[in-house]
Amino acid sequence: MSTSLSLESASKQEEAFELSHFREKFHLPLKDNGEPFIYLCGNSLGLQPKSVKAHLDQELKDWANLGVEGHFHAKNPWMPYHEFLTDSMARVVGAKPLEVVVMNTLSVNLHLMMVSFYRPSPSRHKILIEYDAFPSDKFAVASQIRFHGFDPKESLIELKAREGEECLRMEDIEAVIEREGDSLALIMLGNTNYYTGQFFDMKGIAQLGHAKGAFVGFDCAHGAGNLPLNLHDSGIDFAVWCSYKYLNSGPGSLAGCFVHERYAQDRQIPRFEGWWGHNKETRFGMRDSFDPIPGVEAWQLSNPPILSLAAIKASLEIFDQAGMENLRKKSLAMTKFLEKCLESLFPGNGQQTVKVITPKDPSERGCQLSIQVKGADKSMAKALYDEGVIVDWREPDVVRVAPVPLYNTFEEVLNFAKILKKCVEKV
Ligand SMILES: *Cc1c(COP(=O)(O)O)cnc(C)c1O
Repeated sequence: MSTSLSLESASKQEEAFELSHFREKFHLPLKDNGEPFIYLCGNSLGLQPKSVKAHLDQELKDWANLGVEGHFHAKNPWMPYHEFLTDSMARVVGAKPLEVVVMNTLSVNLHLMMVSFYRPSPSRHKILIEYDAFPSDKFAVASQIRFHGFDPKESLIELKAREGEECLRMEDIEAVIEREGDSLALIMLGNTNYYTGQFFDMKGIAQLGHAKGAFVGFDCAHGAGNLPLNLHDSGIDFAVWCSYKYLNSGPGSLAGCFVHERYAQDRQIPRFEGWWGHNKETRFGMRDSFDPIPGVEAWQLSNPPILSLAAIKASLEIFDQAGMENLRKKSLAMTKFLEKCLESLFPGNGQQTVKVITPKDPSERGCQLSIQVKGADKSMAKALYDEGVIVDWREPDVVRVAPVPLYNTFEEVLNFAKILKKCVEKV
């Protein structure tokens, strides 16, 4: 291994970004010997900020002491609690506060968005999605298609990588949009793709889709908290994301939703309605007809679970302290470092047993590298675990690794690469 990939260079880089102290703010899963695992699975479930406990305790205390009065008199009153998250979440995803709300869970939000942005007609009924989209997203779009009386066999268009390639090329996406043209009702892609780690040019795709009269939305489950998304400037119509991956807000925690400002005052847009989307002044009137809150809050249905919001609030405070741009800088360097370590330990990327299928261009990826280990099976993940590394395994032969700038270190990246080498030699 070259000297630039030494432990010394790892610790130098670690210091250069001045973010190392954030690691102490998280609970790191521990091995039997009390040492922390190398946790590279923040793309699946982010680690718990230590501050979550105090945030939860506060709400438990206020619930115990105040009962229903907590809606207005808790330290952080529950009535407007979701609003306490909005500005920070908007900063994380690059949107205006009016465009962002935390509500429901991801797949639920995706359906709610399709109620508004997938309104097929006999001539325009198709949805464009990636062939290797996350299973839940595929179920969601296919069931929406069937719900409207169409057949996914005809109405679901899947973008497939070229033979022998893993990632999609923009020119191919463009060609499909061109080909399908007026029949496209909705483009809905995962950004970043959960499997390959490919990050799509949302603005470019939005322009192409809008030029054909289609709505354009993205599932940013693997983008939010991973890299800057600039949702507002991208011009897309909607986005959804969960908070338990890179946003470290706890298993099954509430999800984010973005609707572009251009719909903020649109009272005609079809949507499913609930009291939490209704004008806050008259919400308890109960007899009024629906009077939507301007902006994405109009899509809220229910009063949200405060305990879950409290965990998200704790996590977003950390993102505000660190700043998405700073995190991205460290993240770019860490992922590059991981790539270099792998190239050095497994020379001849592509021909050998180990191949990175994530795009090489840093602007086309977040922190995750998806590493294909030819001939390996799930026992690879177990072997890595036994060596003290937690990764995410995807069938048939891909290890997904996400060095997270908030709590992972360059040294961990280096050690992971060495451990992977050891495990691959045993395949
Ligand atoms: C994690 C993830 C989901 C999970 O959906 P939930 O509704 O939160 O269970 C869906 N889609 C994508 C792309 C994901 O990465």
